[in-house]
Amino acid sequence: MSRHVLDALMPPHCPVSGELVAGPSLLSGAGWIALHFIEEPFCGRCGIPFAADYGDDVECPSCIASPPAFDRVRAAVVYDDASHKLIVGFKHSDRTELAPVFAQWLARAGASLLTVQSIITPTPLHPSRLLSRRYNQSAILAQALSKRTGASVALDLLERVRATPPQKNLSADARQRNVAGAFAVSESASAQIKGRHIVLIDDVLTTGATLSACARALKKAGAARVDGLIVAKVVKGGIGAI
Ligand SMILES: [Zn+2]
Repeated sequence: MSRHVLDALMPPHCPVSGELVAGPSLLSGAGWIALHFIEEPFCGRCGIPFAADYGDDVECPSCIASPPAFDRVRAAVVYDDASHKLIVGFKHSDRTELAPVFAQWLARAGASLLTVQSIITPTPLHPSRLLSRRYNQSAILAQALSKRTGASVALDLLERVRATPPQKNLSADARQRNVAGAFAVSESASAQIKGRHIVLIDDVLTTGATLSACARALKKAGAARVDGLIVAKVVKGGIGAI
């Protein structure tokens, strides 16, 4: 069936505002306004926005008090009602046509992280969850970002060696315990990782516990540097955070 016939049968709607738009995966003006893109100044480590510019590479109190295992995280938008709608659609409703949109956002947010030497890799799902969801949304994002930037992508550097209960509704400490030791570098990937810069891709960052657990496993396997690039970040606890 042609695109025109499909559009006539199922006119495309903005995934944020629900208004009719000219084509699939396009956002309406109201949709764009509802999203909050993260701009500098922010914590040099976890990327949480600051209300004022404290200088380059200044870290937030929580990164200073307990430094995460990753080096830097950058996120495209604040996780709020608008970005939640987009991500839920992408994750659970097969709206994978949003991947190139998110890839564009990730490329912009990660411009200072990504180099030609970087290896992009997704946060892995446990095989049981992969089976129920049918696809790993982070892997789709990683592939779309690689296509857009030309950076290499490796889909199987990490394995989730232990199924973990969903992190939702857990405190920051409980999240850390929940994912501790849940990830390992796959045997075939060890040689690929040594001395390299790895960029982990995920859709949402809450406390960073999963990202830290992944970074720990990659560094144990010899990665020189591990950064994270995320579509939407929960924002609380920054210095005068928005
Ligand atoms: Zn921080």
